[in-house]
Amino acid sequence: MSKNQNKTGSYSFFNCIEKNFDKAAQFISIEKGLLEQIKACNSVYRMHFPVKIGKEIKVIEAYRVQHSHHKLPCKGGIRYSMKVNQDEIMTLAALMTYKCAIVDVPFGGAKGGIKIDPQTISSENIEKITRRYTSELIKKNFIGPGIDVPAPDYGTGEREMSWIFDTFLSLRSGDVDALACVTGKPVSQGGVRGRKEATGLGVFYGIRELCHVKEDMYSVGLDVGLVGKKIIIQGLGNVGYHAASFFHESGAIIIALAEREGAIYNEKGLNVSKVFLHLKNNGSILNFPEAKNIKKTEKALELECDILIPAALENVIHKNNANRIKAKIIGEAANGPITPEADEILDKKGVIIVPDIYLNAGGVTVSYFEWLKNLSHVRYGRMEKKFRENVNAEFLKVIKTVCKKPISIEEKKMILRGPREIDLVRSGLEDTMINGFHKICDLKKSLKIGNMRTAAFVLSINKIIDSYERLGIFP
Ligand code: GLU
Repeated sequence: MSKNQNKTGSYSFFNCIEKNFDKAAQFISIEKGLLEQIKACNSVYRMHFPVKIGKEIKVIEAYRVQHSHHKLPCKGGIRYSMKVNQDEIMTLAALMTYKCAIVDVPFGGAKGGIKIDPQTISSENIEKITRRYTSELIKKNFIGPGIDVPAPDYGTGEREMSWIFDTFLSLRSGDVDALACVTGKPVSQGGVRGRKEATGLGVFYGIRELCHVKEDMYSVGLDVGLVGKKIIIQGLGNVGYHAASFFHESGAIIIALAEREGAIYNEKGLNVSKVFLHLKNNGSILNFPEAKNIKKTEKALELECDILIPAALENVIHKNNANRIKAKIIGEAANGPITPEADEILDKKGVIIVPDIYLNAGGVTVSYFEWLKNLSHVRYGRMEKKFRENVNAEFLKVIKTVCKKPISIEEKKMILRGPREIDLVRSGLEDTMINGFHKICDLKKSLKIGNMRTAAFVLSINKIIDSYERLGIFP
């Protein structure tokens, strides 16, 4: 049994990430102490607070973990789930550290969690809990635009973020940068356009980039390009929902969608927007008229497909089902969906795994844009939109004089258009995901690393080491 395994022989979630880290550390020659410091969780704040729900007082268990302070503020989502525990939040905070470094987002990693099931609690009570949690964070100096900036995660969204912001503002009135204390806010409350779909869109950009690499596609017996690829998506929360829509729009075939209650399957492809309408009207994806039901949702992971996208919770692919996975590519839209044992099995089978610390970094990338917007107090595009439109109008005049063919109204509109906030956010995200992908692949090649996960960790650790150099303690 290795030192990372517990008495039952399985790994804690945090140990799983340490294991991935240790594999990468073999490719880095730096003092062991620094690697230990990067790996360790800097601060763990575990709290219990009372909230009156109905006539009863309920004691709520919650966490905020700051894994790394090598860059400030710390950054990471807050999840609401009954599975929340210290090990989980520590691990997710660590993943945030590595994720931010890969996509050049200047934050330390953090994560928060409240152990509640939001589906069984009224929104009034969720609001009470969220506001109390925020004031606990303020009390301990665990939140603030330059300290630690939460965001949405599993079980939370724009609504919770605006409660957090409002609570922060009421206790820190006069802080001109208060809007930057949390990201993922509604646009009307200082959010940025494009944040909601950012993680799903980032997943799409990352997988699309991989599908354009001939060598990789041939290694798993697939053609180049995303069009026609058969995809399964597990989890239709914010990330899975948007990823599914982007893949569908780009010409990929979504053959199965899996949710908690079961999965649906159609070999010829599901019409994603119709499925979502069905889900909205019926409260379940099951019994969608153009698909077969699969009762056991885990079975959907084992269907024949080209690309599998786990987009819900951690550890869904483990040593007991890894051998039955038939996907040629797995894109980790969720954090930590594959255990280390399963990772080894899949690696041996030649499956390409696009790791979470790169693939789901789209959310925090656009959170970074939102934070910058809040600190600069100006909407993206406000300064240059009209200027670009004026320049484009000049271009149009030149085109008209040299071009014999008439220009259609649609073409004119396209040429004249100046960049809106959503255009700038999306192009920033696309560029980030493309760059990140190639940096990982270049390193994988140059150091002859066997898989993308280890290469991604090496890239990330190297970047963190660079930022520690300011301390002057390392060569
Ligand atoms: N919860 C998201 C994640 O796991 C977003 C974090 C953020 O935007 O700070 O990456």
